[in-house]
Amino acid sequence: MKADPVLVAGVRGCKACPLHTTRTLAVPGWVGDKYDSKLGLICEAPDYYADQSGRPLLGRSGELFDEILSQLGLHRDTMFITHMVRCRPTNGDLSRLPEATTACAQWTQKELDAYLPRVVLLMGRAAIESVFGKGNVGTTRGTYTKLGGVVYVATYHPFAALRNKDLVDVIMADVELARELSELGES
Ligand code: SF4
Repeated sequence: MKADPVLVAGVRGCKACPLHTTRTLAVPGWVGDKYDSKLGLICEAPDYYADQSGRPLLGRSGELFDEILSQLGLHRDTMFITHMVRCRPTNGDLSRLPEATTACAQWTQKELDAYLPRVVLLMGRAAIESVFGKGNVGTTRGTYTKLGGVVYVATYHPFAALRNKDLVDVIMADVELARELSELGES
């Protein structure tokens, strides 16, 4: 499956919040060639590599995520990957950017409507809180909830596992849960 060119162009040209003034490239939702509308992923915001390339989840975090997928016999080519906020925040902290979070939610909804993932992994605090509400990532991860016809599974961002290797197995367990739910057609 290919990403919807209208959505991609819309995100690339979006100026709905102040982050458009500091980005290199806005990062639209990415869709793998073998995407089968089962598994999606929402991270928090583009990092340096995503900002430079216009593609999500690269750099060391992306490499670790690909490694986790590989251990589970999965590949990102079967997934849809996006961010809550599609332009890189200069201070990296979304809690200080409610305007951007609110403005960019329109694109999240449009991408969900276009790509229809059955299950979506929420990676990192801000992404988790956008669905689960405020809480502790350590206690929310590994749980799931359903909203608007999509099952959301909470987990850590791979960046956290670069600093704490114990989280690699935790993320792996959560990705496996998401995979199982998507295979079951949990709804
Ligand atoms: Fe538009 Fe989202 Fe970028 Fe803000 S962060 S300019 S809403 S694409």
